[in-house]
Amino acid sequence: MTRTPNSIAIVGVGKIARDQHLPAISANPDFTLAATASRNASVEGAEAFRDLETLLAARPDIGAVALCNPPQARFETACMAIEAGRHVLLEKPPGATLSEVHALMAMAEAKGVTLFATWHSRFAHCVPAARDWLAKKTIRRLEIIWKEDVRRWHPGQAWIWQAGGLGVFDPGINALSILSAIYPRPLHLSAADLQVPGNCDTPIAAQMRFHDRGGAAVSADFDFRQQGPQTWDIRVATDQGEMTLSMGGGVMHVDGAEVARGPDREYPAIYEAFADLIALGASDVDLAPMMHVADACTLGRRTLVEDFHDRA
Ligand code: NAP
Repeated sequence: MTRTPNSIAIVGVGKIARDQHLPAISANPDFTLAATASRNASVEGAEAFRDLETLLAARPDIGAVALCNPPQARFETACMAIEAGRHVLLEKPPGATLSEVHALMAMAEAKGVTLFATWHSRFAHCVPAARDWLAKKTIRRLEIIWKEDVRRWHPGQAWIWQAGGLGVFDPGINALSILSAIYPRPLHLSAADLQVPGNCDTPIAAQMRFHDRGGAAVSADFDFRQQGPQTWDIRVATDQGEMTLSMGGGVMHVDGAEVARGPDREYPAIYEAFADLIALGASDVDLAPMMHVADACTLGRRTLVEDFHDRA
């Protein structure tokens, strides 16, 4: 199908915009990067604005906006873009609270624009194969082990440690987005422990346990203090063997043997899905991963731990 490319703007030209959004947009014939709204950065070849309000007023031709700013700034920018009649792509997590995302959903519906809450890890190569493998098995145990060194992956990102920035749930929510995509039925949180540095608003580590009406023991262990090997694994024991999704969903093993591995196409696939949603006049907002994090914040037991400093 031949489609007219959507002129798109990026808000918040930072790490994820440069690492993933810019290459994915330039490789996608359905999109042309027309402008950016960023206080301190710009992209060669795109008109640069310091704020979204000015961009929207100056460029009515831009039909879509990708919000790559941190979650605390997401709602205000999303409202502006939707009110101006533009389609909106939200980086994960889609907002700082569940209720603000519900408000955006209602606004987008009333305006007749597409709202796409992206969960990039759901587009990891082996996620569909893992979902299919699990579909007809009796699950006995599922463990998420998501442990990374925050100083290596998020240097200088103060917003992660401020209220609304999620702390270790910023990467952890990626695992929860895979969990809610591959698990054959809904789960809900039954207990959580959060370790919060004395000088931060958000947790540096967290453990979660889930209630499964099928009786499986489902848990997650997130830690931002991991030195040495980094782990982004989901390990599942069933009545018909064991499956491990590793590298954030990029590799799948069954009973120790590799059965699938694929290239990283998470962001190209996100922009393909966004183009399809715009063409269909549809939206896609699934709040299940964020609901588990919100539940951990209401149900979780907090322990104060050693202060965190960006430079060790
Ligand atoms: P970042 O580089 O720290 O921030 C992106 C840009 O947003 C910044 O360069 C800044 O641009 C603007 N910004 C920063 N703090 C802001 C604030 N308080 N208010 C308004 N604008 C602010 O963060 P990132 O790593 O790209 O992450 C952004 C989002 O993408 C997060 O929700 C994150 O979870 C998600 N994400 C990140 C990664 C990753 O690997 N880093 C992977 C997947 C998804 P200006 O100063 O120029 O305005």
